Amino acid sequence: MDFGWSEEQQAVRQAVRGALEKLLPRRDELVAAVHRDKRFPQEVWDIFAETGMFGALLPEEYGGTALGLTAMAIATEEAARLGFGNTVAILTAMDALCILRNGSEELKRRILPAVAEGKLKLAFAVTEPDAGSNTFRIKTTARREGDHYVINGQKTYITGLDHCDYVLLVVRTTPIEEAVARGGSKAYGLSLLLVPTAAGGLTMHPMPMRGIEGMNQYTVFFDNVRCPRELLVGEEDMGSFALFNTLNPERILAAAAACGMADWLLDRACAYARERRVFKDRPIGAYQAVQHPLAESRIELEAARLLTYRAAWAFDQDLDLATIGTYANMAKLTAADMAIRACDRAIETFGGAGFSEEYGVIYLWDAVRLLKTAPVTREMILNYVAEHVLELPRSY
Ligand SMILES: Cc1cc2nc3c(=O)[nH]c(=O)nc-3n(C[C@H](O)[C@H](O)[C@H](O)COP(=O)(O)OP(=O)(O)OC[C@H]3O[C@@H](n4cnc5c(N)ncnc54)[C@H](O)[C@@H]3O)c2cc1C
Repeated sequence: MDFGWSEEQQAVRQAVRGALEKLLPRRDELVAAVHRDKRFPQEVWDIFAETGMFGALLPEEYGGTALGLTAMAIATEEAARLGFGNTVAILTAMDALCILRNGSEELKRRILPAVAEGKLKLAFAVTEPDAGSNTFRIKTTARREGDHYVINGQKTYITGLDHCDYVLLVVRTTPIEEAVARGGSKAYGLSLLLVPTAAGGLTMHPMPMRGIEGMNQYTVFFDNVRCPRELLVGEEDMGSFALFNTLNPERILAAAAACGMADWLLDRACAYARERRVFKDRPIGAYQAVQHPLAESRIELEAARLLTYRAAWAFDQDLDLATIGTYANMAKLTAADMAIRACDRAIETFGGAGFSEEYGVIYLWDAVRLLKTAPVTREMILNYVAEHVLELPRSY
């Protein structure tokens, strides 16, 4: 066992931290604009590009650095620790990985080098009004017509679509009834298409949502959208495998972001608790009622971080899909629960000031709470662990 960071990993942390520190003098102003005005955090995106983080998951032949998911998790955690979120970077990384593992050579050459340079932003769309936790129920269809697919349907809650060049879209190429009737599984018949967001017939409508820094969620309509066949990622009808293998890195990076946010919250809460005096001349941080919850959160953070990097390590070691899925799910649940508690405790430490936009703590409440629900709900993770790890019967 080795719990230390490699030299390369330490270098990644220092490079990202060093670059992000340039933003610190205007951090509060920037974060307020991002959260309050939903301004896209382009500065953070540019720093990820500058430090080569978009290439971390890609091999050199596609312009990447092949540093691995652990490196990307370190960068994501580090950015969050300084108070900066970067959700589209997570979405772009997971999509790029999906293309790398499943796309045609032509598609990889067309897309991946531009991703590695930070020149392309990618969104991800699976959720529909009637299909969130139950992906197999999606109704958006893609019908083959010559050298194109014709897409019809609707997606919802799609993050950052207006900033993205492409969306990795999950569609049905065989209806669920037909897949089941043919004796196949419900998982058969899904396909992945990399659809340009500027495609004719694609319209997006912002939703009145909170939860992710600097961007909107969109309801997206596909009305006879024509997508060239070469933008199919993986085999037609066999998208499920590619899809589930792609969701694990997203969960691991979400866990890393939760760890970073919790760290930032604890830093801010402790700094305030050392200074704020309410009774006599003793700072509130001296009261055990204030310090014990913060100490508990610090311990929980360490545990969540261990699980997060255990999951990233499993991914980088290319262990079997079940093992990676188990750790990715466990890490996401543990880190989200931990970050929610840390945020609650940070707000309590600040008292009324915890709700003031001046201190910025309240901005993170939506962000950490979201991680309990998305990218996958806490309940679906418990279902997974009960069924696949504890071998208990499926209840649904
Ligand atoms: C801010 C935000 C950003 C998002 N961004 C994206 C995005 O970019 N792309 C995208 O595709 N999606 C996105 N989503 C969608 C997100 O992944 C889904 O909201 C989430 O997976 C839950 O699906 P649902 O909302 O349909 O909930 P439902 O599936 O309707 O579930 C409702 C509740 O019932 C519970 N439940 C359902 N079935 C079971 C069961 N069998 N056992 C126990 N409990 C169950 C769920 O856990 C949940 O608590 C985003 C959502 C939000 C809020």
